[in-house]
Formats: sequence, C-alpha cells, structure tokens
Amino acid sequence: MDIALSPEETAFRDEVRAFLATHLPPAIRAGAAASPSVFVEPDIGQAWNAVLDAKGWLGYQWPEEHGGPGWSPVQRYLFEKECALAGAPNLTVLGLKLVAPVIWTFGTAEQKAFFLPRILSGQDYWCQGFSEPGSGSDLASLQCRAALDGEKYVVNGSKIWTTHAHHANRMFALVRTENGSRKQAGISFLLIDMNHPGVTVRPILTLAGDHEVNQVFLEDVEVPVSDRVGEEGAGWAIAKFLLENERGGSCHAPKLLYDLDLLAAAAKDEPNGLGGTMADDPHWRRRVAQARLEGQALEMIELKILADIAKARAPGPQTSLTKLLASNLRQTIDLMAVDLYGAAGLQLDAERPLYGDDAPPPLHSRAAQLAAPRYLNSRAWTIFGGTNEVQAGIIAKTVLGL
Ligand SMILES: Cc1cc2nc3c(=O)[nH]c(=O)nc-3n(C[C@H](O)[C@H](O)[C@H](O)COP(=O)(O)OP(=O)(O)OC[C@H]3O[C@@H](n4cnc5c(N)ncnc54)[C@H](O)[C@@H]3O)c2cc1C
Repeated sequence: MDIALSPEETAFRDEVRAFLATHLPPAIRAGAAASPSVFVEPDIGQAWNAVLDAKGWLGYQWPEEHGGPGWSPVQRYLFEKECALAGAPNLTVLGLKLVAPVIWTFGTAEQKAFFLPRILSGQDYWCQGFSEPGSGSDLASLQCRAALDGEKYVVNGSKIWTTHAHHANRMFALVRTENGSRKQAGISFLLIDMNHPGVTVRPILTLAGDHEVNQVFLEDVEVPVSDRVGEEGAGWAIAKFLLENERGGSCHAPKLLYDLDLLAAAAKDEPNGLGGTMADDPHWRRRVAQARLEGQALEMIELKILADIAKARAPGPQTSLTKLLASNLRQTIDLMAVDLYGAAGLQLDAERPLYGDDAPPPLHSRAAQLAAPRYLNSRAWTIFGGTNEVQAGIIAKTVLGL
C-alpha cells in the first residue's frame, strides 16, 4: 500500500533508501535473510546496530535529548519500511525499544546518563527477566525475591524463557520486594548485572533447534538500590508501560508484506505438478491475496498507533490488537512457505547458523532450507510478549468493554 507522502517525506525516504543501498553490508543482509528467528544473533544484530549508531539513526524512536534523530512518526515508519524492503536485520529490541523507554521515562538522571549511551554504543546487551516457571501469563504471581539489605537488594529466584540471556551482560527484571495486599503490589523493577557470580544461565533449545531462550538462576545476587527504576513497589506500572511498547513499539507490517512478496515471487519458480507453477494456482493466489489484505490492514493500525505516540498518547490496548494480528500473519506466511516448497521445505538442520561459510548446504535452495526452521520458530510468536489468548482477553475487556 502506498501512502501519499509530502515532498519532504519522499526526500527522506530516498535518503534512507540510498543509505541502505550503500551501507547495509551484504554479509549482514545475507545473515538476516538466513536467520529463522525474529531475534538475530549478535554477530549480525550488533554489527548492524554499529552502522546505524555511526549514522545517528540507531535510536530512531528515542527523544532527541537522549540521542534520537528527532524523527516524526511518519519518518520512523518510513525508516522501518525501507529497512524491511532492503532486507536489513531486525534491531535488537531488548535494550533499544524495551528498557530504554523505561529508563528515560522512570529513571533517575544518573540512570539515564549511565545506561542510555551504553545501549546505543552496544556496550550493554540486555535481556528481559519477567517470566518465571509458573508465572507467564499470570505475570503478577512472580516469586523472584529481592530482600533489602542496607544499600542493596539480595535477589533469589529464577527467570525463564529469557531471550539471549547467554549474550546479555544486563537484565531488566521484575522482582518481589514485599508480599503486597494484591499480587500486583510489592513488585519492583531492577537492573541486574549478569556478570554477578550468583547468576547462572542454562540454555533451552527450542523446537526448531535454535538456542535463543534460557532459564536464569539468581542466587544471592546483589543489586545496588541505585539500580532500581522507579519507587519500590512501582514495578507493575512500569511493566505495563514496557509491555505496551513491546507489543506495539514497531511496525511489523512492512517486514511481513516484504516476506510475502518474496514468497509470491518464489512461487513463480515452484512447479504446481500440473505443468505450470504455483503462481498459477488459484488456491495459492487466494492465500497470497488474503495474507496481503491482512498485512495492509495491520499496517493501517500500526500507523494509527504511531500517530497516537506522536501526540504523546500511550499506545494503550490497541497494541494487543497489532500483536495478535502480526503473530497470526507471521505464522500464516511461514506455513505458506512450508506448503510452497513441499518436501524441500521439510529440511531441518540442527547446525546453526544457517549463514556464513560453515552453514549446512541447502538441499533445494536457501529459501526452502529456511522454511521448516522458520515455521517451527514462529510458533513462538503467539506466545512471547503475551499469548494470543491473553491479548484477546485484553481486547475484550478494555477495547470492546465485554
Ligand atoms: C521464544 C520465546 C521467547 C521469550 N522471551 C522472553 C523473555 O525474553 N523474557 C521473558 O520474561 N519472557 C519471555 N518469554 C515468555 C513469555 O512471555 C511467556 O511464555 C508467555 O507470557 C506465556 O506464559 P507461559 O509460558 O507461562 O504460559 P502460560 O501462562 O502457562 O499459558 C499456558 C496456556 O494457557 C493460556 N492462558 C493463560 N492464561 C490465560 C487467560 N487468562 N485467558 C486465556 N488463556 C490463558 C495461554 O494462552 C496458553 O495457551 C518468551 C517466550 C517464548 C516462547
């Protein structure tokens, strides 16, 4: 879908497009194209972050006072769209888009001055310590404890499904600082140094064979009180703010539509068994059209959220809608890829990464080799950041008033 752009916006889009054409290294682009997960590995992600940081565009959603380029919502959207069209890797959201807004909104002057530049420079790589064994959808039931001891907290407990904890040197975590009258009370938001000796990271391999998530054990981990964000007990409000950003902080539609276009183009080379190609198959064409319509509808809602953010309105529960729609469409497109490639799409290599000189060779094509890992990996979309059922519950309650 083309949105009428002003001459300034067109010039901006062209500037971004020209930059990507000259500054997105082929190896990073190839790595992004061959990453089954939404979370690219740091060799790809951090290298791309450094390119954008050198240009001053990495914090493209950040306020200018903290190092953002001062772009309008339309500019941010155009940037994301051009990055998707150029095949750039997804940006590593945990620092840039999740904890950074928390720090500039709720943090002290010292926290802002210390942590924010380190996110942009890549000195700090963050992971998110929210979920626990037994506390996922019902996050407020979390049990990881932080006991105040003078000027520090002593943290004991466990976090699970912690994405990229094995790469991270810092974790933002929700901990229980007291048994509140309600389970949402008594939760605090801490910034934890992962290099503390009491932190143990145990890998969890996912269905597709990727090592993305972990269980993290915290044993007598000392955290200075100065690394608490917000007041003690104010963690739940901060978590809600962060989760709304997690669900709606980016535009998913450009990337989804780009992947759909690639798939539609690939169908021209896949035989349909009747002497033609899959691109001629009416059932396939209907699926492509249906997915495209869903992607375009999603894009409109994402643009509306950006407009709200520009007016300093919190994105609110409509981010649950985009999370739900984007997750479903991601899985639809990845299922279409498996169907398109047929038997060739069932290759499931155990080795990672699927890019670089040591990547296992594709039996059919690189795109077909990625179909099964992507399909399996994207099962996680309807779980992470809050499951589909939980999003539907939020929409029913807060949007529809049911
Ligand atoms: C790949 C991946 C990466 C992740 N990364 C992180 C991370 O970095 N940091 C982090 O903290 N967490 C992370 N998570 C955890 C994620 O947020 C949780 O898995 C999620 O919130 C669901 O919690 P759960 O796994 O405990 O499932 P449960 O909450 O036990 O849910 C089980 C089932 O019950 C349903 N259900 C639960 N409650 C309700 C309800 N009220 N109404 C209707 N249905 C309900 C759910 O929809 C689901 O189908 C990640 C998860 C995955 C899969």
